Amino acid sequence: MAGLLLTVTLLMAGWPASARALSIDGIRFGAHPDKTRLVVDLSEKTDFRAFVLADPYRMVVDLPDFDWQAGAIAKPVGGAVKDVRQGRLKPGVSRIVVDMAGPVVIRSAFILPQDRDHPHRLVLDFSSANQDEFLQYKGRLLGNLDVDNVTPVMASNMAVSSMPQEAGNQAQKTIKTAGGMIVPPHKPPLPDGIPPRTEKPIIVIDPGHGGTDPGAVGANGVFEKHVTLAMAKELKRQLEATGRYTVHLTRDTDTYIRLHKRVAYARKRNADLFVSLHADSIDKSNVRGASIYTLSEKASDAQTERLAARENRADLIAGVDLSVEDETVASILVDLAMRDTMNQSKFLANTMVVTMKSSSVKTLENPHRYAGFAVLKAPDIPSVLVEMGFMSNRQEAQMLNQTDYRRKIAGSLREGIEAYFRKVQKNNNT
Ligand code: ZN
Repeated sequence: MAGLLLTVTLLMAGWPASARALSIDGIRFGAHPDKTRLVVDLSEKTDFRAFVLADPYRMVVDLPDFDWQAGAIAKPVGGAVKDVRQGRLKPGVSRIVVDMAGPVVIRSAFILPQDRDHPHRLVLDFSSANQDEFLQYKGRLLGNLDVDNVTPVMASNMAVSSMPQEAGNQAQKTIKTAGGMIVPPHKPPLPDGIPPRTEKPIIVIDPGHGGTDPGAVGANGVFEKHVTLAMAKELKRQLEATGRYTVHLTRDTDTYIRLHKRVAYARKRNADLFVSLHADSIDKSNVRGASIYTLSEKASDAQTERLAARENRADLIAGVDLSVEDETVASILVDLAMRDTMNQSKFLANTMVVTMKSSSVKTLENPHRYAGFAVLKAPDIPSVLVEMGFMSNRQEAQMLNQTDYRRKIAGSLREGIEAYFRKVQKNNNT
């Protein structure tokens, strides 16, 4: 209360109209074995109110009106937290909403006072719950903010100043989680209230190899890097023609890009899906057929392991030390949240297998395979690697070099992607 009065006084003394007592200066998530911790940096100590809701599952934090100074809202690692939004609930009260993939309960919520190294912080520890447990917690309020008795600060200015410095927020800070993990910047919040996310899904397509790295050289002399780029452009064209997706390519020219930069590119674009395209060689020239890979520490067979090892070497050849990235990735892999992403990746791969078969694209036996491809290691983006066929097979190399055949494969991938998003959107609505 004292803080609010102080602000009113300052405003009257000629401070900018948007200045308020409370500002949110940072927000981050940290994954722990038994819980996820949300930390909100506050400019001052404040009352709050936190609770969970269903349909869709979400966590809600109400605070006295705040100035959002935390930059773009960061999406945490993994699929458990789907989105973070913030905006005005009513005069005097602002709200942060954390959209969850499933039921969660808030285990504890408290304010940590500032110390030498940290500002005041609101801490929320939460974890996923089964339906019964969720129902026990639903309706339980944590904190002591009385939203019906909050004194609005300069109510007349609120409509215009409810989302201060929105343009400045576009600067998109990256935010460090407690685990030291850099979280990708999320889209800036929309200016009015707390709207649901309505943008088109973002798909990043990654044409394998490029520039000094030709990839496999076909029995017909064609380079894999050219086939992957042509296929990526065709798939982009088909996806964009539906009007339902935003599509980016990691490269649209014949250039070399490091593997981890391809992943970083997808995360920077806030991708909902990452599809890497390849057509490699193996030592058996009679083997042909498409296959789809998702990430696993353990390859599904020796042939797959050799394939992944060869792909991952692309960066080593260029003199890049992968161990630094791998350490981060290793720590993320143990995160439970990663499982969501991996499950979604598997679902996409299986869907693509179905649409490839129904489009009579020839596939390997057991076409969905697992391997530790470096390019599949985004912890928070469902990712697959498509081996469209083998350049080591003369017939397949020939076909991959033809526009018609590429159109057919791209068509089957597009169908798989569309089926995937239909399922994801249905899940989000129920
Ligand atoms: Zn390749």
